Amino acid sequence: MKIRYILLALLLMFFPYKIAEAEELQNPTKAKLKILETTDIHANILDYDYKNQKRTIDFGLSRTASLIQKIRSQSENTLLFDVGDVIKGNALAEFIAKSNLLNLTDIHPAYKTMNLLEYDAATVGNHEFNYGIDFLMKSLTGADFPVVNANIYVDDHNNMEEDDLHFFNPYVILPQSIRTDEGKEETLNVGVIGLLTPIAAEWDKEYFKGNLIIKNMSETAAELVPKMKKEGADLIIALVHAGLQSDGALKEKQGNNVVDVSMVEGIDVLLFGHSHGLFPKNGEKNTDVINHQAGTINGKPTVQAGFWGNHLGIIDLTLEKRAGEWKITASKSQAKPIIRIINDKKVPVVSPYQPIEYLMKPYHEQTLEYIKSLKE
Ligand SMILES: [Zn+2]
Repeated sequence: MKIRYILLALLLMFFPYKIAEAEELQNPTKAKLKILETTDIHANILDYDYKNQKRTIDFGLSRTASLIQKIRSQSENTLLFDVGDVIKGNALAEFIAKSNLLNLTDIHPAYKTMNLLEYDAATVGNHEFNYGIDFLMKSLTGADFPVVNANIYVDDHNNMEEDDLHFFNPYVILPQSIRTDEGKEETLNVGVIGLLTPIAAEWDKEYFKGNLIIKNMSETAAELVPKMKKEGADLIIALVHAGLQSDGALKEKQGNNVVDVSMVEGIDVLLFGHSHGLFPKNGEKNTDVINHQAGTINGKPTVQAGFWGNHLGIIDLTLEKRAGEWKITASKSQAKPIIRIINDKKVPVVSPYQPIEYLMKPYHEQTLEYIKSLKE
């Protein structure tokens, strides 16, 4: 104890600025952070199956939302992200795209719902482009949260790379106020970058061609992540709309899947979607880099939350701040289902979140009318 005192006094004499760091090294600040993910909602905001025209317990963001709110009520530090494929996929989506609602200054109900749930950030999926770029941009103006993507660029019709411009905000750094284990307030600068499988440019050629290009995911991330660090990001989360493997039809496979993106230095956490799978997944075999028990890829905490809101992705992080630098010291990833199977029977874990039901009511009713009109 005495020696420590003398050392600290000496430090104070010669390096006063080192004191805080020295104390932090001995006694690091610790905090817990829960990162929540939804992905591939495909306009399934309500727990309603428009194909069979009946309520369902199997999917719907209104049910996932109850899980989100429950976790938020129990945890101090949470962040919520969506990994894309929001506005296409069911009759409600068709109705909104064909209606004149967005031209009449209404907000797309999917983003209205996400605003209500106070998402921290999101990225775009390939299906965001299915109704054209104009419709997407009109839809996104209604989002009250940042929507980031780094590897979609404006096609400027020259062969120079240096002057290429991002179409979206490539990343965002969110100053997140978190409560430490000791109950103190600290600011954690959370960097969020978005990436999309380049196959989207092929699948929606009619909109992309001559307008937008999509570059390699890993190369783009490797270029931007150091910038994010320089700008003060303590923790970097990649929202990756791509599968564990590159899309089969892609010419350039290397760098365009989640495993390759996980190799990019500086990325700390990966949330992904697109292939509608689960990560981690029980009973699945591990590989050199993929660990389903640890819920990591290349040692980095990773999650994929299925589709249509049937699961919520959850990553629990334990963080430590030493010498001014935050580090992840432990993590747990899980894709939590909204139903459980008991004696071969599906049992809901949560009920629909009422504010979403209320918000969606007029859109739902108009969608039912729209379906009816198609049959006439
Ligand atoms: Zn997708």
